[in-house]
Amino acid sequence: MTDIIRVAVAGPFTEALDYLPPANGPAPAVGVRVRVPLGRRERVGIVTAGPTASDLAADRLRPIIDVIDPTPLLDPATMALIEWAARYYHHPPGEAYLTALPTRLRRGDPATPGQSTAWHLTDAGRAAQPDARARRAPRQRQLLEALQRSGTLTPVQLAGIGGDARSVLRRLVEQGLAATDTAPDYGLLPGRADQPGAALNDEQQACAAAIRPTAGHAAILIDGVTGSGKTEVYLDAIARTLECGRQVLVIVPEIGLTPQLVQRFQSRLSGRIAILHSGLADGERLNAWLAARAGVADVVIGTRSAVFVPLARPGLIVIDEEHDASLKQQEGFRYSARDLAVLRAYRSDVPVVLGSATPSLESLANAAQGRYQHHALTRRAGHARPPSMQLLDMRGQPTREGLSQPLIERVQSHLDAGGQALLFLNRRGFAPTLICHECGWLAECDRCDARYTYHRGRGRLHCHHCNREQRLPHHCPSCGSVDLRALGLGTERIEAALTEAFPQTPPVRIDRDSTRRRGSFEQAMQRAQTGETRLILGTQMLAKGHHLPAVTLVAIVDADQGLFGADFRAPERLAQQVIQVAGRAGRAERPGEVVIQTHHPEHPLLQQLLHGGYPAFARTALAEREAAGLPPMRAMALIRAEATDRHAPLAFLRAAVPLAPADDAVERLGPFPAPMERRAGRHRAQLMLLADSRGDLQALLSGWLPALGRLPEARQVRWSVDVDPAES
Ligand code: ADP
Repeated sequence: MTDIIRVAVAGPFTEALDYLPPANGPAPAVGVRVRVPLGRRERVGIVTAGPTASDLAADRLRPIIDVIDPTPLLDPATMALIEWAARYYHHPPGEAYLTALPTRLRRGDPATPGQSTAWHLTDAGRAAQPDARARRAPRQRQLLEALQRSGTLTPVQLAGIGGDARSVLRRLVEQGLAATDTAPDYGLLPGRADQPGAALNDEQQACAAAIRPTAGHAAILIDGVTGSGKTEVYLDAIARTLECGRQVLVIVPEIGLTPQLVQRFQSRLSGRIAILHSGLADGERLNAWLAARAGVADVVIGTRSAVFVPLARPGLIVIDEEHDASLKQQEGFRYSARDLAVLRAYRSDVPVVLGSATPSLESLANAAQGRYQHHALTRRAGHARPPSMQLLDMRGQPTREGLSQPLIERVQSHLDAGGQALLFLNRRGFAPTLICHECGWLAECDRCDARYTYHRGRGRLHCHHCNREQRLPHHCPSCGSVDLRALGLGTERIEAALTEAFPQTPPVRIDRDSTRRRGSFEQAMQRAQTGETRLILGTQMLAKGHHLPAVTLVAIVDADQGLFGADFRAPERLAQQVIQVAGRAGRAERPGEVVIQTHHPEHPLLQQLLHGGYPAFARTALAEREAAGLPPMRAMALIRAEATDRHAPLAFLRAAVPLAPADDAVERLGPFPAPMERRAGRHRAQLMLLADSRGDLQALLSGWLPALGRLPEARQVRWSVDVDPAES
């Protein structure tokens, strides 16, 4: 018998690996990072158990190389959450652990925050007379006075003073008037709480009253139309939680984490705020993570992966825009931050709030089954009135680059009345298709089953699926004709059409192409917000949570692209998009108007949105999912496989099927080629599993998946499991 330590290490291992304790020094505690040998390499891993007895012969095991953390980096609750997620999503635990850590910790850097230097006065400095040095050293006098006023000076304050402040301070230190000290600097933002909140209306009050910071777990769905004051309710609940001395975790979609939102939180809350998102430098991310873990940050606002951040004293979790697809990771460790946040809140016995103007069908079903409390905010807060919505029948209408004459007139009348117009098209580039007018040749990506998007500004063809780019051909590679034409609409094309139709009012385009430069998105939004730009157009980047008070007209340029999608979730996504974009209209005093261009005005989805809004749509959609036996009424998982070889993915899945334990409770569909069979040069196939109960589905997967890796066919493919997939 040997004492071993179990270490979760990144790699395709379904369990933690066994190691001997380090040769010199004590056995590391659970939750500590260690360096271990793996093959001929060295890896950073997390101790998950030990020391425990093992039957394995000691000579087959290798010792831990060294112990990185003096005390556990991860607490038991965080570890349990990660382990649970790894099991539920059938992902290797070592990989799951590493996903949960900031890059620096993943690499094995020490878990210590940044340091900052501060200057303070000595006793001699306190007694010194600044006037004495008025003429000889005016800068020294200035800094001595500044120190005497504030007691200490931080680098941020020095930046405000400017010039040679540091070298002047060094002279004061030499004279014994000042001294320096260093302190941990987590880079947190101070909450200023210098603006009062709105007095909550009746609906908001009822909702806020349901969020009780110290009363244990409750899941609360805030189903509130855009502008109904959901954020005000969050802020009220967050402030009350902070008063109880607890921390709050706020999870938002990547695009929702704007400087605007952060400023609003700062102006309303006291306490220290940490921000966690993928755009941060590694050091900033580490600092924010450590601050959350140490309890130094009171509020943590973060994107998806923040769901794993350790909290010293959790009190409340908020998930804003809970319907947003970006809360589910789409590759590798395919976890849902929303679902894990709810589980985490349950296990920590704290409330969780899920907010959206267009709740996911999953959350609505949970509410209907009594698992979530359902609170509707049906009215816009303040003076804002709901926008009116109408369909614009495109059939037979003359159009100018996708803009119908009635739409152009509508835009004009809003501009004339001093309003702002926002046009939404969820497709960037100039046109989704380039075609030869002579022979019908289409510009297709040679690595995907997809067409190139034509980007006129850059003079290039770009595949939006694999990112491959090409120069625009001068002539058709098939017949040599120079008559190549752009088919269909993209934002660049709408921009050109608007520029022509409204020469006095240059539009601003907001999509991923126009906002590549750092800060350009914020700049464009600022121009839109201040009203400097009266015509705004863009993709879904515009749809999320931004306050555009002067927008009075919102136009959905092309609703048809979402009506006939292959994915069963396409109608849900379209309805959410329409309602979210529509929500940008008339958020302040001016009434708003929403027009939707379509060739299918009689389509039931559009009719329902028009007459009953999102709730009516959601009711029908849920009934349809029930009838079809689809999520959220049933649990779903996909087994995905891909390979450069055309036949290998299907061959692997076909070989996998007979290995499944006999189980009548799980329905199997496929294997089929994936909806876009070839992407980035790889052929893809999938097998769909559906069950009435999550437990049945999980039991089947647990009994089955280990056998798949042993199939000879598995060596020809990359395969993965996607539990609760968000897209097929
Ligand atoms: P949501 O998060 O639902 O989109 P917000 O919380 O951002 O809504 O509120 C929309 C606007 O209405 C904001 O300008 C907010 O300050 C204002 N508001 C919210 N609640 C109230 C209220 N009870 N009284 C007055 N104004 C309010």
